[in-house]
Amino acid sequence: MKELRDRINQLDESLLKLLSERRTLSMDIIREKEKHEYNIRDKEREKDILSRIVETGKKLGLDTHYISKIFQDIIDDSINLQNEFVIRKSNKIESGAVKIAIQGIEGSFSHLAAKKFFGHISNELVFNSFSDFESVIESVENDESDYAILPIENTTSGSINEVYDGLLSSNLSIVGEELFQVKHCLLGLEEIPLNNIQKIFTHYQAARQCSKFLYSLNKTQVEFLDDTAKSIIKIIELRKPEYAAIASKEAAALLGVKVLREEIANQAGNYTRFLVCSKSQIVVDKRIPAKTSLVLATAHKAGSLVEALSVFKEYGINMTKLQSRPIIGNPWEEKFYLDFEGNLSDLNVQKLIDELGKHTRYLKILGCYQSKEIEKSKPVKIINEKESIEPEINIENKSEERIEVKNNISYKLASRLYKKDDTIIKVRDVSIGGGNFVIIAGPCSVESYDQIISCAKEVKNNFAHILRGGCFKPRTSPYAFQGLGYEALDFLKDAGEQYDLPIITEVMSVDQIEKVAEKSDMLQIGARNMQNFSLLSEVGKTMRPVLLKRGMMASIDELLNAAEYILARGNRQVILCERGIRTFETATRNTLDLSAIPVIKELSHLPVVVDPSHAVGQRDKILPLAKAAKAVGADGIMIEIHPDPDKALSDGLQSLRFDQFRKLTEEMDKIK
Ligand code: PEP
Ligand code: MN
Repeated sequence: MKELRDRINQLDESLLKLLSERRTLSMDIIREKEKHEYNIRDKEREKDILSRIVETGKKLGLDTHYISKIFQDIIDDSINLQNEFVIRKSNKIESGAVKIAIQGIEGSFSHLAAKKFFGHISNELVFNSFSDFESVIESVENDESDYAILPIENTTSGSINEVYDGLLSSNLSIVGEELFQVKHCLLGLEEIPLNNIQKIFTHYQAARQCSKFLYSLNKTQVEFLDDTAKSIIKIIELRKPEYAAIASKEAAALLGVKVLREEIANQAGNYTRFLVCSKSQIVVDKRIPAKTSLVLATAHKAGSLVEALSVFKEYGINMTKLQSRPIIGNPWEEKFYLDFEGNLSDLNVQKLIDELGKHTRYLKILGCYQSKEIEKSKPVKIINEKESIEPEINIENKSEERIEVKNNISYKLASRLYKKDDTIIKVRDVSIGGGNFVIIAGPCSVESYDQIISCAKEVKNNFAHILRGGCFKPRTSPYAFQGLGYEALDFLKDAGEQYDLPIITEVMSVDQIEKVAEKSDMLQIGARNMQNFSLLSEVGKTMRPVLLKRGMMASIDELLNAAEYILARGNRQVILCERGIRTFETATRNTLDLSAIPVIKELSHLPVVVDPSHAVGQRDKILPLAKAAKAVGADGIMIEIHPDPDKALSDGLQSLRFDQFRKLTEEMDKIK
């Protein structure tokens, strides 16, 4: 044992040495890139490295997901390192202490975000604490501090308006941003039951982000203080174990109090974006992703905002945020805060700003800075050229001469007449429609934690895109397995997070929608509910993409009208699914209507996927139908898989074993 452990220790040490050597090489590369002014990122090369490594890893018996996760982190580290090198040059941080103004004391979220932002510099950091944002800004304006750290928006509670307004009236520039995951905890002096807590101290933004938890405590009083860390000081001073505070775990450790409950925020992914501001502007190196922020006010007449915004379209520049605020003294007039991807030193951006000036009555640039949102490269499957065959069927998917669609149709928003171009629906980083072929796979029902985790791993390892799993099951017999409900949803969400896959699950009734939409990236409306109009209207009010399955007795016209119910309520993200219809044929579970695909493509701009599993009902016939689906122009397929189909609690006969699924994904790549 000892000998084996010693060898493992040696290996770990070698791995570390290799990583450090790789980092040194990355730095050599950036110096080389500097000389030739090459781009910092080469996404094709990143994709190439990942794909190659995954292939080699496979040959060595290493799991695809595991390898791509590790190497994605290694590549990210290298990009960060290179970005930091460049940004440090443009920020020109002098030697000596860096003075940073924050709202709140040490241990507050502003303090933690500042430490993250300035983490790479060796200068001493000195913090100046203030109780309000105005004083933070003033401190930099009168040279008492070099930088101000200001929270600008939170993923749960939205924009922090005082900061926007404070920035506009100041003469500071934005020189950086930091994204910080805010994990709120309930803290106290000693462990006590939650219902004995009499009073909770916190900051009002933290209270908003934890409103559901606070509401669940019923009668507990809440008192607001200037920042979360101060609320800890308060309970230490008052010395009552019945008093609690909401702040970070880091602040609890710093100030010596106990964590009573972790992660009490409404949303698990609770992020705050902080701005870093200073008196002088910076020039961001053109090779790193940059963002620009500005404030504008348009003329008070019809269409003036549209005119201003269409300038962005004209210049092909992507806006990442638009926020409106009232103009003080001019009732009902608005100014707009706007962020976009682009560097002020680019000619194209300068032209955009000139043009924008013609359509606005006020325009002020707040700053240009490095964007912290790094787009990740993903490995792709390496396909052996010799293996790939052209399908014999030639489909003209995007034919210019579409047959005239009748004018007296009963749906509008779903129709090609309303929208000519294919709709592309984004589910996290997966795009459905517009030429991407997406594979959705997973078990019919989520049966246990281990079962869904093993399916997720298989989905990821075979480069499929979305994980499915039924939590609420529509079963023909009331005595058949009905699904594990919300417990299954938690398992599915966990599996999706572990393997970085978006998830989809079915909703069967109106009361499930809100709770399911909170956790699932996509909602499915099953065949049996295609014409449940109240269900359609309710999913139409959510922001989640909806996969609408064709009813087993429904015509294409009825399917498109059902989609219209969802679209008309506001949700424009509908994906149609052909899953087989009832015919006189009894040899298969249903009859897969493949002609529906080109027909729908002609009538509608919405993406269409095919579910061969429910159509044919027999596992050995799924592969040819899946291939046919791709060949007739579907935007994707949905496939049921199971680690042990014979023991499946639902639809075992049509569920693929993992080896069959692997073969299917390989075969799909051969169809172009
Ligand atoms: C399913 O996808 O699990 C399902 C129940 O399918 P359908 O609604 O098409 O029968
Ligand atoms: Mn099923």
